[in-house]
Amino acid sequence: MKVHTVGGYEQIGMNMTAVEVEGETVIFDMGYNMEEVIGSDEQIDELTTNQTLKTGAIPRDKELMDKDVRAIVIGHGHLDHVGAIPKLAGAYDCPIICTPFTKKIVENGLEGDRKNINNDIIELENGETYTISDKLELEFIRNNHSIPDSTLSYLKTPEGGVIYGNDMKFDRKPVVGENTDIERLKEAGNEGIKVMIPGTTSVDEPGRVRPEEAVKVELNQLLQNCYNAGGAVFVTTFSSQIQRLNSILEANDGRRKVAFVGRSLKEYTKSAEELDLIDLSEIEVASYYDECEQLMDRIAGEREEWLVIATGNQGEPGSQMDKLASQQYPFRFKKGDHVIFSSRTIPTPPSRANRYQLEKKLKDEGVRLYKNVHTSGHAKKEDHRDFITFLQPENIVPSHGHIQKLGSYVQLAREEGYSLEEDVFIGENGRTIRIE
Ligand SMILES: [Zn+2]
Repeated sequence: MKVHTVGGYEQIGMNMTAVEVEGETVIFDMGYNMEEVIGSDEQIDELTTNQTLKTGAIPRDKELMDKDVRAIVIGHGHLDHVGAIPKLAGAYDCPIICTPFTKKIVENGLEGDRKNINNDIIELENGETYTISDKLELEFIRNNHSIPDSTLSYLKTPEGGVIYGNDMKFDRKPVVGENTDIERLKEAGNEGIKVMIPGTTSVDEPGRVRPEEAVKVELNQLLQNCYNAGGAVFVTTFSSQIQRLNSILEANDGRRKVAFVGRSLKEYTKSAEELDLIDLSEIEVASYYDECEQLMDRIAGEREEWLVIATGNQGEPGSQMDKLASQQYPFRFKKGDHVIFSSRTIPTPPSRANRYQLEKKLKDEGVRLYKNVHTSGHAKKEDHRDFITFLQPENIVPSHGHIQKLGSYVQLAREEGYSLEEDVFIGENGRTIRIE
């Protein structure tokens, strides 16, 4: 068995890994590199594949071109896992396999990109299996992450099982959906896992990820305090974090009218509503500039009647939070208003700089800020130890991180009895690891 570590092994983002067994290859994920996309002066949609490759925003997959690729398997809908599909998937004569919510995101992504691809997109629910070939069978195992319908891909091959879990975590008290299917992981472990490919984004943080339920309780109390104090109340979070949006709605508990403001919020929640993952019937949703302007004008006259959820938690220029703070709408923040960041700042220089600017503008108006009301979508060190214990993989190829993250995972694997380059491997973009 060969593991091709194509992308996401020298950065957080741009995930792409391929597993080759007895002449057949399966690709896991085709993501882009958020930082390169955000930092690019050009619209990625407008670029050809070769032009995009030059920006460093998508994985360099040339080495896979002469392989017999049988399937492209997508674990979840975050853009660092699906964003490169419009540029790369068309080169492979095989289906894309993903869960229903992920499929909607893939299709939305293809709509926005002029490059057409002809790959069939096959929906596979968690718990279901799909026969890729005489040799390869795929099962989706239910996984908990910060986006609905996330899955652990379990590829059964003549040489043993492959678990691709990038990204993954446990949440023993989720607000929407269920916890990762621990029983099935243990069974898979007994069936024999030849190699596990885990994401390492938060492996260097000690302990465990706290449950979404804890964030909901925190939000409930925080909203009560803000409502008691009076003033306008805004929350900003990641638009694909449907579970968090539900936490906010449940925490509000009908006390204020709710508005969702921003294009990505509209797109993700519309897809989620179609799958009964959120109820938008009582929510005002605004996306285009005119709609947002009208709604914010109305909210300006009823400041204490609304809870506004807006895009732009990273302070991205042009996002709704940036527009609001830059006074581009009839609404003006006043002293004593509240802004809750139900997110973390992505630790990259551009994100830090954007957030600094946004916070400065808000503080200048006397807005009270609440930060990091959040829990991560990524397993921490002790969660990762559980994955190793449940699956008992013979080999591990940690993914989704630069060398420090991968190294932190190797440290954990050593504690569990693995040895570097013997049964735990550090990938690099473009490396091929042979598993004996
Ligand atoms: Zn993710």
